[in-house]
Amino acid sequence: MRKRILVTGGAGFIGSHLCERLLADGNEVICLDNYFSGSKQNIVHLLNNPYFELVRHDVTVPYYAEVDEIYNLACPASPIYYQQNPIKTIKTSVMGAINMLGLAKRVKAKILQASTSEVYGDPEIHPQPEHYWGNVNPIGPRACYDEGKRCAETLFVNYHMQNNVNIKIARIFNTYGPRMSLTDGRVISNFIVQALTNQNITIYGDGSQTRSFMYIDDLIDALIMLMNTPENVTGPINIGNPEEYRIIDLANKIVEFTESKSVVTFKPAPPDDPKQRKPDMENANKILPMWKPMVNIDTGLRKTIEYFKQQL
Ligand code: NAD
Ligand code: UDP
Repeated sequence: MRKRILVTGGAGFIGSHLCERLLADGNEVICLDNYFSGSKQNIVHLLNNPYFELVRHDVTVPYYAEVDEIYNLACPASPIYYQQNPIKTIKTSVMGAINMLGLAKRVKAKILQASTSEVYGDPEIHPQPEHYWGNVNPIGPRACYDEGKRCAETLFVNYHMQNNVNIKIARIFNTYGPRMSLTDGRVISNFIVQALTNQNITIYGDGSQTRSFMYIDDLIDALIMLMNTPENVTGPINIGNPEEYRIIDLANKIVEFTESKSVVTFKPAPPDDPKQRKPDMENANKILPMWKPMVNIDTGLRKTIEYFKQQL
């Protein structure tokens, strides 16, 4: 039977790919977004599908609909966007979680939270397993995002324990691919846009900090598989590609792949910028035995570069 699925943040980078896949799988999708960091352009190609519904709505305000599943993705993910209005970012994570969990409880829907590797802050344990509590500065510039997401996890776990809500928490590690906004400010989109327009590549700090990058298609597979796990699987579960890269190596790769004349330059590191990040995948391998990241960085970057070329 056709499921009715609500995707909050559905007009964003990840949300738009998720809506597309859920529709292709034969579901009915309600995409809810306030367009803070997403765009109609990401989902315009879905608008003539009768099983797709677009709702302009802010998750900080309650929303009611009869649905079977909820993917709660609404929240700006790029530091530039989430630091623009930090109070709103916290409200989006916390009030958004309360509103969506309330809805899930009322209509008995399964609900998946797009949590983040940022809950580990600047980690002192490497790679990061789910049982690591993290190292987050609660009053730093990233706290509005990190602590908002941490509180959302707490809310999810407590709605599960207190009210039996069927929850799934995915701790998503850095994800990239087509439909990232050109002005998003995250490292892969910044470097590709800079390289394609022959501007200086801006490395923050000395470029020795690391991230592990996952291509969007791999993430979408994992999110849907996680949603379909048995009720006793709640997470949190790390979802990421454990291949780890230094930011300077990423910059050089992008310059090479775009055949750019851009020069790599260095700017001061932002405060509290995590120095290393890599998912411990032991748990995910057990819970999602059929899933593993399939797209390596070279293939993923080339696909993303093609997308940005068209956009520019
Ligand atoms: P994005 O900014 O492209 O998408 C977020 C979407 O949420 C946007 O369409 C935005 O307009 C919408 N939104 C923001 N505030 C809202 C509100 N108050 N009400 C309704 N809609 C709102 O970012 P993304 O990369 O697609 O991230 C999606 C989710 O995944 C976020 O929750 C993010 O924290 C999480 N995540 C992403 C990554 C990543 O690497 N991309 C990593 C970890 C977690
Ligand atoms: N970064 C960079 N130059 C940029 C954008 C980001 O060197 O133009 C660095 C940033 O300081 C961080 C890493 O790249 O160390 C990843 O940044 P991003 O904002 O993509 O993700 P997050 O820090 O949230 O993992």
